[in-house]
Amino acid sequence: MKHLKDFENDLNKCSKCGLCESVCPIFKINPNDCAASKGKFIMLHGVTKGDLKLSKNINKYIDMCLKCGKCNEFCPSGIDVCQILSSAKADFLKDKLYGKIINFLQSKIIFGAIINFGKFISKPFRPKKIPAQNAIQVMYFKGCVNQICPRTDIYLNKIFKNTINIVEPDFECCGLPFLSEGNMERFEQCAKSNLEKLNDNYSYFVTDCASCQSTILDYPKYINTKLNLSEKAVNWGEIIALQNLKFKFKKPLKVTFHKPCHLKNDKFFKTIMNNCENVEYVEMENYTDCCGLAGSFIIKNLKLSTKLAKQKAQNINKTNTDYVITTCPSCIAGLNYGLLLNKSKTKVVSLPEFLSKAETISRC
Ligand code: SF4
Ligand code: SF4
Repeated sequence: MKHLKDFENDLNKCSKCGLCESVCPIFKINPNDCAASKGKFIMLHGVTKGDLKLSKNINKYIDMCLKCGKCNEFCPSGIDVCQILSSAKADFLKDKLYGKIINFLQSKIIFGAIINFGKFISKPFRPKKIPAQNAIQVMYFKGCVNQICPRTDIYLNKIFKNTINIVEPDFECCGLPFLSEGNMERFEQCAKSNLEKLNDNYSYFVTDCASCQSTILDYPKYINTKLNLSEKAVNWGEIIALQNLKFKFKKPLKVTFHKPCHLKNDKFFKTIMNNCENVEYVEMENYTDCCGLAGSFIIKNLKLSTKLAKQKAQNINKTNTDYVITTCPSCIAGLNYGLLLNKSKTKVVSLPEFLSKAETISRC
């Protein structure tokens, strides 16, 4: 487990060029140096050198981050802000009562039990899997929301009609909620447990949440493992596009798309839209901008989160569409929040939910 001190060299690499400020969604709505990684790194470097204390005020800026990774992509020094902030958070919370309470709530006894209970009560509502002959085998990592709610399984069953074999080992949470709270011990526990169940014997490794996929692909940054799933990791949208499925809708519909921050590649979306009859796709202005929810960010930074959610909703309203489609359960909640505040009529749906509304689904 790494501590903030272990990142002293990375913090030293920051040239203060300010490029991160030009892309940081938080800096755009709150132009304070400490909102973007440049200012955060200056403070944290002060801590590693012993000039500053890891205080409550610094913690406020550690929490003021969506973990969207946009600054990582542009940083010429290649500094990984998410890893540094998680370690700083862990150091700040160590020995604090609040930290102990968070760790207890996130433990297997509480968090794990809630998910297991959700799995148990939703089981009778999930469709039965029928093994298909000569079909591709996919390993499915079901995010926590879909562990509790059976609807995505119903949509997938309607879309694929048992034409692919879905294997679901008993995975734990990807660990992102724990990583964000600096609960490194619990994060590593989940990552190790999931790595034991992961293997590359399958054609694809599918996730239903962009954040889960990005966290799992980042495991090698935290845990010593030789497993590299990056070539096989896809989302359901990519599988649907690869299968070249055609969707025919009864009534003409207008839709737009919100790209979750952690979704690396969204090319599949236009491919699917081209295969949808009676659907008009309208690209939203700044469709890659964050929905504003970002896990516990909304709780710690309600004003900033609301500002981002409202901006997003305004852009959705400009498209005048029936549906806004996305591929992350957390974004669905964030988009609904913004649309509720803006009294919008556009409905938020996941990609599988939207496609399952088609009157007919056929293979090319
Ligand atoms: S882009 Fe990277 S190097 Fe430049 S100021 Fe931001 S963190 Fe520092
Ligand atoms: S991860 Fe996103 S929100 Fe956080 S500092 Fe970087 S660009 Fe800003």
